[in-house]
Amino acid sequence: MSAPPGINPNIPHSARVYDYWLGGKDNFEADRRVAEATMAAVPGIRESARNNRAFLGRAVRHLTRLGVRQFLDLGTGIPSQGNTHEVAQAEAPESRVVYVDNDPIVMTHARALLTSTEEGRTAYLEADVRDPAAVLEHPEVREIIDFSQPVALMMVAILMHISDADDPAGLVKAYADALPTGGYLVLSHLTLDLVPPRTAEDYLAATAHQAMHRTPRTGEQITRYFDGFDLVEPGLVAVSEWHDTPLFPDEPAWMYGGVGRKR
Ligand code: SAH
Repeated sequence: MSAPPGINPNIPHSARVYDYWLGGKDNFEADRRVAEATMAAVPGIRESARNNRAFLGRAVRHLTRLGVRQFLDLGTGIPSQGNTHEVAQAEAPESRVVYVDNDPIVMTHARALLTSTEEGRTAYLEADVRDPAAVLEHPEVREIIDFSQPVALMMVAILMHISDADDPAGLVKAYADALPTGGYLVLSHLTLDLVPPRTAEDYLAATAHQAMHRTPRTGEQITRYFDGFDLVEPGLVAVSEWHDTPLFPDEPAWMYGGVGRKR
């Protein structure tokens, strides 16, 4: 594909690397190079991307069945199968979803994101999640999401793209503070905890010089993002094991996922 305006196809970007792993076509040579190099060096990374996407769907379905009708989805990704609004509105057509992403390529797919049931709403906001005030106070967010009613805050495979210098825990807190009691946090994150030490070393060696930065974090660090939330069963686990039996049981697991309910 040719690069839409505002996109530098020579700089690999997380949304497009992830798209490649999911089997999508919205990626460039630089993205494919990073994706392939990581796959070659470390087993199971592509399967983890797919497991992560499946986790997102199961978590949304689960929350919809618990009565949640509003989703603030930070780090949308390039539309793929089972986007949040599709899963939620299949269960409850009146569901309302606001997507937020800072990659202009996601914007070029906004039309796919903005298909909504008549009863529900979907909106897409091009913004940086590191600016919670801009997101939370955005007129469209305020119009679509009623923060006095249950809201699911989705931070699925996004915080690993936020470095420690940008205070990921502070960001989660800023968003979480806007949620009512009984709101939910759906979060998944890259980790090296679940793979053999040698595989973790291979991962770090393979990705050290990549232009695209990801920060793996430990289960302990990731659990702290759920401060103020009660983790619902089964807690923080490999994404493939959250309310499912693993799709690729023999592959190393690279992602933790969990859902918390705000106290
Ligand atoms: N949540 C989706 C997509 C994850 S890919 C899923 O799990 O399937 C990560 C997404 O986060 C990408 O689309 C990338 O563009 C977005 N992203 C990364 N850093 C961001 C930032 N600072 N602000 C907004 N979006 C960001």
